[in-house]
Amino acid sequence: MIGAGIAGLVTALELIELGRDVVLLDRCHPHELGGLAREAFGGTFMVDTPEQRRSRVKDSFELAWQDWQTLAGFEADDVWPRRWAEQYVARARDDVGGWLKRHGVWFFPVVNWAERGVYGDGNSVPRFHLCWGCGQGMVDAVWGAIEKHPRRSHLDLRFRTRVTRLEPQRVHAVNEGSGHEREIEAACVVIAAGGIGGNLDIVRRHWPKTMGAPPAKLLMGSHYYADGAMHEEVERIGGNVTHLDRMWNYADAVRHPKPRRKDHGVKLIPPRSGLLLDPDGKRYGPVPVMPTFDAYYALERMCEDERKYSWLVCNWKIARRELDVSGSEHNPLIREKRLGRFVASVVVGKSNLVRYFVDHCPDFVTAGSLPELARNMNELTGTNDVDAALMESEIRRYDANLARGRSLWNDDQIRRIAQLRNWRGDRLRTAKFVQITDPKAGPLIAVKLQPMARKSLGGIQTDLESRVLDKAGEPIAGLYAVGEAAGFGGGGMHGKRSLEGTFLGGCVFSARLAAKSIASR
Ligand SMILES: Cc1cc2nc3c(=O)[nH]c(=O)nc-3n(C[C@H](O)[C@H](O)[C@H](O)COP(=O)(O)OP(=O)(O)OC[C@H]3O[C@@H](n4cnc5c(N)ncnc54)[C@H](O)[C@@H]3O)c2cc1C
Repeated sequence: MIGAGIAGLVTALELIELGRDVVLLDRCHPHELGGLAREAFGGTFMVDTPEQRRSRVKDSFELAWQDWQTLAGFEADDVWPRRWAEQYVARARDDVGGWLKRHGVWFFPVVNWAERGVYGDGNSVPRFHLCWGCGQGMVDAVWGAIEKHPRRSHLDLRFRTRVTRLEPQRVHAVNEGSGHEREIEAACVVIAAGGIGGNLDIVRRHWPKTMGAPPAKLLMGSHYYADGAMHEEVERIGGNVTHLDRMWNYADAVRHPKPRRKDHGVKLIPPRSGLLLDPDGKRYGPVPVMPTFDAYYALERMCEDERKYSWLVCNWKIARRELDVSGSEHNPLIREKRLGRFVASVVVGKSNLVRYFVDHCPDFVTAGSLPELARNMNELTGTNDVDAALMESEIRRYDANLARGRSLWNDDQIRRIAQLRNWRGDRLRTAKFVQITDPKAGPLIAVKLQPMARKSLGGIQTDLESRVLDKAGEPIAGLYAVGEAAGFGGGGMHGKRSLEGTFLGGCVFSARLAAKSIASR
């Protein structure tokens, strides 16, 4: 097995459970075990779950499958992606969630509502089940099950071992410390080496045509181990790698306050009560761009302008209630499972998080007035892009609309805020119709948002047993691919867009199918 991310760990656990012997190679250090899942938020897309039912959310395979296909925009030849997606939607609750729960994973009782779509063309109902402990909790549960497994000794895990060459039943690996090289033979080889999001050259080369030219400045939201080398190896030996131009990148990223990698970005969940403005300070319209409704649309709008960045303008009161960050790193209360303090933070807001980003993130600026804010924004970019008068008139127009009172509100963003506040999972996390220039809500905050590469939707094409297919559609004997490397199944089960939370789930699902197939050989 190549890769000890969540997909690799799940495959390994299932294989030792099913009586097989596994050699698991990863180029990472021991503390990085679990790959990107260790950093992930832990949201998992599932359908018709006990958590949904307890919240009186009626969901069904038919509804979710319709939502999925709407976003996926599958093309006629997307045969395997479509099959994978259909299976995932039908089986995620039991084969992903149920399986994880059996290994001690617990999901929040209130399900989050991600990607509801600009025009309702996303998740019809909340389906983002947040894992208690974040993605790290998921990794710990799977690794814990491996550690205490009676057949633990049948797993040989070798860190700092990078696979450089691939054959269906043999790999060539090099030890990153000693430089020692060796060949390892196996009845089957499983590629669980992640996507291409860590290789910005490949990301730029395959940048989606609908988004114009690739951004000159692109943040990195994956890890550099996801370098696409195994995709190239699969192509070299005749495997079919598909849809690398389909990717799940974000428009709401900032530079990491304490970067650990070159171009390290962090994905915010920016306040929905803030206003999103283009580089000139003009509000996007006529349909407002609002974070969390449609990530793809937000990136498309950002990329229409060749400067490829946006501003989110809000104030302290809004940010304290609504600012969030995707991932385990900036959610210590969830990651460390501190329920009491987590509930308190939802009720009183997250002043510490806002303070931290204001103080440490170079893409945050604050001010006491709109003209001062515009000056600080221009100072940050080193341009005169923001037209202070234009920005002020846009913000005042929005605030005036709010000031007219509920019965006269007439702004699409205000309507959407009302819709957010109707869902119990969002009510406490959404400020109560706060004006941007409310003098009691300051200081003003502006955040420069940039594009960031994150997930690969395409990848190594596989059948429903996770067997790698060649260009003629035939399985290559002994070769498997799982997780992000396989486009989460079939070389791209998402099609063009995701309903969110589908990545971790896709890793677990494709890994389990691979293990079952290998064990049945
Ligand atoms: C901050 C953040 C938040 C996220 N939040 C969510 C979320 O809430 N919900 C969701 O569904 N998804 C989320 N994701 C995405 C999700 O975490 C990833 O898609 C998923 O973890 C990928 O797992 P993987 O095992 O396929 O690959 P990876 O985690 O990339 O693991 C691949 C492993 O292979 C190793 N490797 C690579 N090449 C080689 C080689 N040549 N030789 C040896 N080893 C190699 C790497 O070192 C790595 O350990 C998030 C991602 C991030 C970064």
